[in-house]
This record gives sequence, structure tokens and C-alpha cells, in this order.
Amino acid sequence: MANKEIAKITNRLSHMDELIFDHSFATLPPQFFTRVVPTPMPAPYLVASSPSAAAMIGIDHAAFSDDDFIVSFVGNHIPAKAQPLAAVYSGHQFGVWAGQLGDGRAILLGDVASKDGVRMELQLKGAGRTPYSRMGDGRAVLRSSIREFLCSEAMAALGIPTSRALCIMGSDLPVMRETVESAAVVTRMAPSFIRFGSFEHWTHSTHNNHQSALQTLSDYVIDQFYPALRDAPQPYVALLREVTRRTAHLVAQWQAVGFMHGVLNTDNMSILGLTLDYGPFGFMEAFDPHHICNHSDQHGRYAYHMQPQIGYWNCYALGQALLPLIGDVEEAQAALAIYPIEYKNKIDALWHAKLGLTTQLPDDDQLIANMFSMMQSNHVDFTQFFRRLSQVQTSNVDNNNSDTALRDSMLDRAAFDSWAAQYRQRLQQENSVDKARKEAMNSINPKYVLRNYLAQIAIEKAQNKDFSEIETLLNILSRPYDEQPEAEQYAALPPDWASHLEVSCSS
Ligand code: AMP
Ligand code: MG
Repeated sequence: MANKEIAKITNRLSHMDELIFDHSFATLPPQFFTRVVPTPMPAPYLVASSPSAAAMIGIDHAAFSDDDFIVSFVGNHIPAKAQPLAAVYSGHQFGVWAGQLGDGRAILLGDVASKDGVRMELQLKGAGRTPYSRMGDGRAVLRSSIREFLCSEAMAALGIPTSRALCIMGSDLPVMRETVESAAVVTRMAPSFIRFGSFEHWTHSTHNNHQSALQTLSDYVIDQFYPALRDAPQPYVALLREVTRRTAHLVAQWQAVGFMHGVLNTDNMSILGLTLDYGPFGFMEAFDPHHICNHSDQHGRYAYHMQPQIGYWNCYALGQALLPLIGDVEEAQAALAIYPIEYKNKIDALWHAKLGLTTQLPDDDQLIANMFSMMQSNHVDFTQFFRRLSQVQTSNVDNNNSDTALRDSMLDRAAFDSWAAQYRQRLQQENSVDKARKEAMNSINPKYVLRNYLAQIAIEKAQNKDFSEIETLLNILSRPYDEQPEAEQYAALPPDWASHLEVSCSS
């Protein structure tokens, strides 16, 4: 290698080494984590990187194809200031106390500075075993890594709070799931990966100093991420209330785009109110409120229509965990009681915006309920329905057929016509202006979401070493509200073969 080439790599290496500048989580006492070293992967290669996530932390995304980036983000080289560790947490899984879990395959490297001044933690997911791996191999397969990568970035572009994904590095290392697959590492980014289960861990513990650990963790979270609550009369009550509020809003945002998380266990609930731990998630297609996206969820605990109440249940688990600090059950209950109110306010605002309504009237609940039953009996595609709704014009006097495309997608046209008449009347009630409404509706009803079949096509190509479809999808999903005429087919209904697709907890 020419000297110049070596100099270039060395420079970049030092850039990688500078990237991690601090490690705030590691300042917590050692009982919160175990220091670990990622297990190297043979012959790693770049699978994908996110330009917008990279820009957040000031990295030129072209650099991800450099060897030093590849070895660093697969876990083969540890950046100078990184202090790799795996965090401990517990949690309720499918409603049952599961005891100690912890980062079984995620390794925290440390903090990077983001451009807007928020420090972000970098975590390698799939980087090898940790003391919390239990029976697992510490790895993540390419398939699920692509799904997490694409969905994190798609959710961010939709404007929904989420952990981010910086890049995926792959390796031909075989990983055994239902079949043999290949391994990958996703680098995730969030201000913190602390979960509800991180708190439950201490409350349900028999550890000597579990109460002081609970307080240390809570003080850390307040100090770092909710500094405004430091001076509240009861900071722990205030923390519970604020997390409850954020969670209610987050779930409302999921419902409004038809996102189903799939595994809403308390160990997957972010203390910052972010969408976290993408596994067997899905976006609603043919509308069915009882839809279950996770094949492993036999009883439908995490079905679409269950998510709002599960969000509440999980906040209760957090309230239970914070109770030793809060002291008074009634205080905790009062903080939790805001959930249904916050959820209702948020979701009402979102449905109204999705319908292009700028005012709220008492009969709107009925209009919205009628819409859902019409959508359900028509098995209408959730995303297409809302997107096409903006074509409806306020006046139908000339039978102007403005809603032909939407009407044609209906099985029960009479039911649609009857609902559309109510909707038009409601629009007229607030003197809605077609053009302005259409624009407003298109900025809240996405045209492009990560449909399972789109992810599947990208996955199958990637499994044959063609990573181009991941980039194409990422590009389209980074502008979900824009008309992208060249990408029209990415807004299409799932093909027949997609009805056989199943996603499960195996990843
Ligand atoms: P999840 O259902 O992905 O949220 O995972 C639940 C727990 O299992 C977490 O503590 C994970 O870290 C752990 N886990 C999941 N998959 C693996 C794996 N392949 N190896 C080690 N731990 C895992
Ligand atoms: Mg998890």
C-alpha cells in the first residue's frame, strides 16, 4: 500500500477514535452493566448506511465503505475512547414477569456528539455474546438487521420518536435460526437505551442495595434526560407522569400510521418514549383492528387494537417499579391517570388531521367510528385509504368522481358512499377548502411505509449480496409524504406471495 493510502486510513482511524468522546452510562456504578468485548466477525462488509443518521453525528456517509469504519462498526476494532458494555435489565414479557434479561446481544460503545447538541449513544446490535445472552448466540441475522435498519429510519422520517440506525455491517458467519442465515451488526443510536425494565430490575430484586440502585438510576435519567424535572416538588412522580405522557403520545402516533410493534414487553419500552427494539413489527395493510403482526404472539396480546391499553399496562409496570421512590400509591396512580386523557387527546387530534378536519365537533367520534367499521368491512389498505382520502372533494354536486380511485378500491361501495356522504357534509360544516385540505392531509398521511413485502424483497436480494434495494427503499422511505412518481410501485398493495410472509420473535 502506498504511503499516502496508509496516511488516509490512519487519519480516518483517528476520526473513528475521536467519534466516541465520552461515556455517560459507564459513570453509573458497576452493578448496572458488565464490561464486555465484541466478538470479532470474519471478513466483514458494508451492507447499508443511513445518510441522515450519519449527518446527525457529522459523519460523511461515504466513509462507511472504508475498512476502518467497517471494522469499527462490526465490532472488530474498538474505538479508542469506547468502553464497551452490556446493560442489565429485567422485564415483563407477554404479561408475565420474566426476571433478569439484559443486553444479550447489544453492546454499548459510548457517546457521540450530535450536531444539535444532544449526545447520542452508539450500540452495536448482534456483536456477540454477553453475560446476559442466556441461551442466545449474541448474534443478529441479516434479515432482522435490515428490517430494524429500514424501519428505524422510516419511523424517523414519519416524524415518530425512535432509536436511529446508522449502518449495517455484514459477515458470512453462519447463524442458526429456523434455517442457517448470515450474521450482521446494526449500529443503533439513541440518547439512551434505558428501558422500563431497567427500573423493574431493581424493584423486583433481592439485591442488597436495590433501593439505592433504583434511586441512582432514576436520578441519572432525570439528570441526563429530564433536567426540567430536577426541581419538581416530587421528581419521581414527575418522571412517571412525563414518561406516561410520552408513551401515550407515542402509541397514538403508532396507531395513526398503522404501526404495530409486535413485542410490547416492558423491556422493549424506552424510558425516553422512543420506538425501540424492532423485531416482528408490521404496518397495517388490509384493515383489521385485531391484526397480529407477530407470528409468535398466539393470543394477540400485542394486536393493533391492543397497543393503546398495553402502553398503559406498561406504564403501570413502570409506576410499580418507581413506587419505592414515590412512596404514595395515590401519587403514582394520579401520574398514571393522565395516560387515557393524553392518549385520547393525541389520537383525536391525529384522526382529525388525517381526515383534514381543522375543528373538533361532538359528532366526530361517530364519523370516525363509522369510518373504521367501513374500512374493516372493506378490508381496505390502511395507508392507501388515508392517502387517497385527500382526493375526495367537498362538493359532489356534479358527481365529479373525485374519489373514483378510492371508491374503486372498496368491496362494499354502498357502505363507502354512505360514509363519504357523511364525511363531505362534515367538511362542508367547516367550509373546508379542497386544495388546502389536500396539502395538509398529504403531509400527515404517508404514501410510503415499510410494507413487509418491500422489506422482504430487499432482504432476499441482500441475501444474494445485492444491497441496492435497501438503499432504494431507504431513499423512498426517507420522504414518506412526498409524491415520488418514479417510485409509484412502492406504494402498491402487497402481491399475493406476500400473504405467506410471517414474522416472529426469531431474529
Ligand atoms: P427481544 O425479544 O429481542 O427484545 O429480546 C429479549 C431478550 O433476549 C433481550 O434481553 C435480548 O438481548 C435477548 N436476546 C434476543 N436474541 C438474542 C440472541 N440471539 N442472543 C442473545 N440474546 C438475545
Ligand atoms: Mg428487546
